[in-house]
Amino acid sequence: ETQIQVKDVSMVYTNNAGEKINALDSVSLDIKEGEFISLLGPSGCGKTTLLRIIADLLQPTDGEIIIDGQSPRDIRIKQEYGIVFQQPVLYDWRTVRRNICLPMEIMGVPKKERTSRIDEKLDLVGLKDFGKKYPFELSGGMQQRVGIARALALNPKYLLMDEPFSALDEFTREKLNEDLLEIWGKTKSTVIFVTHNIPESVFLSDRVIVLTPHPGKLAAVVDIDLPRP
Ligand code: ADP
Ligand code: ADP
Repeated sequence: ETQIQVKDVSMVYTNNAGEKINALDSVSLDIKEGEFISLLGPSGCGKTTLLRIIADLLQPTDGEIIIDGQSPRDIRIKQEYGIVFQQPVLYDWRTVRRNICLPMEIMGVPKKERTSRIDEKLDLVGLKDFGKKYPFELSGGMQQRVGIARALALNPKYLLMDEPFSALDEFTREKLNEDLLEIWGKTKSTVIFVTHNIPESVFLSDRVIVLTPHPGKLAAVVDIDLPRP
């Protein structure tokens, strides 16, 4: 039931001064279908790099990723990734509904289907009554909920999240973490969640993948067996 295989992935960046920066050092791991894993480690250890490689936003210098027997490129072309970044990039001149709608418009999802999916996703992230608002009318936490709804618009098999709640206050973050687990329980997608927050990773995930400080190597894989909220 392994779904995502990370095989000896290394990444060496070359900076503007021409120096080599070893960001990831031969990382291997297996992720199961429907699993919620977190990538945990200090700032600069290569978590974002690994997530971007899995998302096909970056090519590794070495190694490969295999997802259900396919390459990240195949998965990206089929639009099976949903991605949530630290700051949701929302269009302030589009309503919440029309922001969530955007990926579906790009993919040519018919209007009726788009409308019903917008309703479904708004409900899922707890923003039922906010569809007609504009992003600037919402709090940071609510904006990130919109970002999650938009990432889920195409019903992605893989949900990739890069420190989605790290810009939020502690209270908002805790609530969003609880709600994220509820959302995940309904979507059944495989989640890879990047964080440098230890309690957050333990609270959320089935397994915590710990990377060493720069350059990132696999330090530990910790199974978490806590009751879900
Ligand atoms: P993390 O997400 O764990 O904070 P990153 O993946 O962002 O780590 O970065 C890992 C290392 O690679 C860091 O040392 C960072 O400075 C370096 N790095 C990231 N992106 C680039 C880039 N485009 N060019 C050069 N170095 C980079
Ligand atoms: P509602 O369906 O409740 O009226 P909205 O009008 O905000 O909500 O948007 C939902 C649907 O309407 C989406 O499918 C969206 O693509 C479509 N839509 C609304 N305005 C436009 C527009 N100017 N261009 C393209 N699609 C639009």
